[in-house]
Amino acid sequence: MKRGRFAPSPTGPLHMGSLVTALASYCSIKQAGGEWLVRIDDLDPPRQDPNAVGAIIRCLTAHGLRPDRPIIFQSDHAVAYESALQKLAPQLFYCTCSRKQLRAHDRYPGTCRAARTPLPDSAVRVLMSDTEHGYNDGFLGSVDANFAAQLGDFIVRRRDGLISYNLATAVDDGNTISEVLRGQDLLPVTAPQRYLMHLLGLTAPDYTHIPCLEFADGTKLSKQTHAPPLNDADALSNLRAALGYLGFHAPDVVDSVDSLLNWSVEHFDMSKIPTRLPKYRPS
Ligand code: GLU
Ligand code: ZN
Repeated sequence: MKRGRFAPSPTGPLHMGSLVTALASYCSIKQAGGEWLVRIDDLDPPRQDPNAVGAIIRCLTAHGLRPDRPIIFQSDHAVAYESALQKLAPQLFYCTCSRKQLRAHDRYPGTCRAARTPLPDSAVRVLMSDTEHGYNDGFLGSVDANFAAQLGDFIVRRRDGLISYNLATAVDDGNTISEVLRGQDLLPVTAPQRYLMHLLGLTAPDYTHIPCLEFADGTKLSKQTHAPPLNDADALSNLRAALGYLGFHAPDVVDSVDSLLNWSVEHFDMSKIPTRLPKYRPS
């Protein structure tokens, strides 16, 4: 069974940029006859908003985006992440570099590579190999940039003990998800995530990175850039707008959330999505 997923972090309510990505991932996997899952990436309590999970679920429901299985919470997977860390042990080292020490470098300089036994107050990093981490992207085509060279040894467990997004996502997507469709802002994490899946012996999904929705000045819609939350009462017009950004225009007779979603699944075509989406226009 093919499986796709939408994986918001519960740092705030969904905005039009989130809806564009959620809708595209929904349409792509549904058109392929697969299941669409929702996973809440809730592994960073300091950045989370306690009201966000409820708001996100209500918002997706209002927009007809119902997952085919119960919602997945990364916070339920601690055991799986620990066992992944154990498997990775031969490739891990313990980094005590301060933020200040690292500031001068654009990628991790390898300072602590020799520290192979656990140290208190250390971050855990994985040795990144210099091999090529290219892959074929469902939207971008061949992506061959050597992200490893840009990134260096990356963190799998933070100094505060929290599991990194990359490790959690590699564990949750590997073997389980067949298509990850997400925004191009996440392109740089694809190499580390694929690399972790490779080390863990997990099958990587296919990746499709679509353009992010931007404000007129070119900044990406996000919580940090104060993208306005979606109003659930406007679900139909929100969906029409999201479809419009992706390059699709449903006829006016399609006038309910569910019929619009059905129309979208039927007419979705990755090759019609523009390389740059039209700029966001608040309604
Ligand atoms: N939860 C992360 C985010 O919202 C990443 C999701 C993903 O890997 O698709 O930015
Ligand atoms: Zn270090």
